[in-house]
Amino acid sequence: MNPALPNPEMRDLYDKVAGGGRVSEFEALRLLESKDLHALAALADAANRRRNQGRASFIVNRYINYSNYCILSCQFCAFARKKRDAGGFQYTPEEIARMGREALEAGATEIHMVGGLHPSLPFSYYTDVLRGLKQVSPQLQLKCFTAIEVLHLAWLARKSVPETLAELRDAGLDSVTGGGAEIFNPAVRSRIAKGKESAEDYLDVHRAWHRMGGRSTCTMLYGHVESLADRVDHLRQLRELQDETGGFSGFVPLAYQPANNQVPVDHPPSGFDSLRTVAVSRIYLDNINHLTAYWVGLGLKLAQVALSFGADDLHGTIVDERIFHMAGAGSPMSQTTAAMVRAIREAGYIPVQRDTFYEPIKVWDEAAPTAPAPEEPSRALLEKNLASA
Ligand code: SF4
Repeated sequence: MNPALPNPEMRDLYDKVAGGGRVSEFEALRLLESKDLHALAALADAANRRRNQGRASFIVNRYINYSNYCILSCQFCAFARKKRDAGGFQYTPEEIARMGREALEAGATEIHMVGGLHPSLPFSYYTDVLRGLKQVSPQLQLKCFTAIEVLHLAWLARKSVPETLAELRDAGLDSVTGGGAEIFNPAVRSRIAKGKESAEDYLDVHRAWHRMGGRSTCTMLYGHVESLADRVDHLRQLRELQDETGGFSGFVPLAYQPANNQVPVDHPPSGFDSLRTVAVSRIYLDNINHLTAYWVGLGLKLAQVALSFGADDLHGTIVDERIFHMAGAGSPMSQTTAAMVRAIREAGYIPVQRDTFYEPIKVWDEAAPTAPAPEEPSRALLEKNLASA
């Protein structure tokens, strides 16, 4: 029992979590409904430290969105455009290879690439993009495509999902992204992302990739029209698939951004809501090693605090994030390595630069100096990038 745990009503759960026990859905809901953030932090930190020994990671990466043209119209999405709309863009494989080269020269180890479901690009475009990036450097790890994109590409290729994933892997795909999970409850899904793949489809794509030996991440978009019970149900389905395959390398809860879309909400996720969601996710998902505090949605300051609520990763330097910023995210467009190291170290954890699979590349021990944090790139970069697209 933790004598410092302020809430005696949670002591049974503390003992369970500290001893490596598994909390039930009922207990997860009880934790989510709690107002005692201190107790949640104690529970989640115990669960995290048992796995990650006081280390917290980040990756030096670059986001690339190959296009925002999309045949779907998810209500919550501020990123997608139709061909007739202003603000649409798409890049050629050569332009994407140039971005990959720039990223490599800036120290990136990973390209994270997703886009809309393009109405006319052929399947060969996607394999050309992957091959072009691998020609830049075979060491550049390619984490690409959400489950719905994989389904779209399978339709384009006229092949099964496993066959399509195998072709993408042969072209250079290293890992599949976790985006597109949103909330699995079909009623909620239809209110925010009508027409998108079902929970079963999402999980089947990841299952197929895991069975091939692949690793992927998974996500949950919270803080819109879902209930707390919907969040627990979503986490349950992720935990069950992880029990089956062990293929999820990390979980990334995504704070809903309410601007420029058709799902306005009066109360988008507050700091309180985000911290309790991170904490309960860490406690409940006892079979997924890593949990990311996604600074793009939280802001780096709250993401830093989330390291004390069970998160052990701050995601990446990113460089050019569009999806959240087009939905109103107020965070900067990128982070520097120095800013990440400083945030982790200040929170009392050992900074680790990691690769796509959360393997350490560099451990920033006490002796390693931290450069002063440079100025945060301004939102003007988003405008510039969109204007030049
Ligand atoms: S969320 Fe993805 S699939 Fe849905 S409209 Fe936006 S880009 Fe298209």
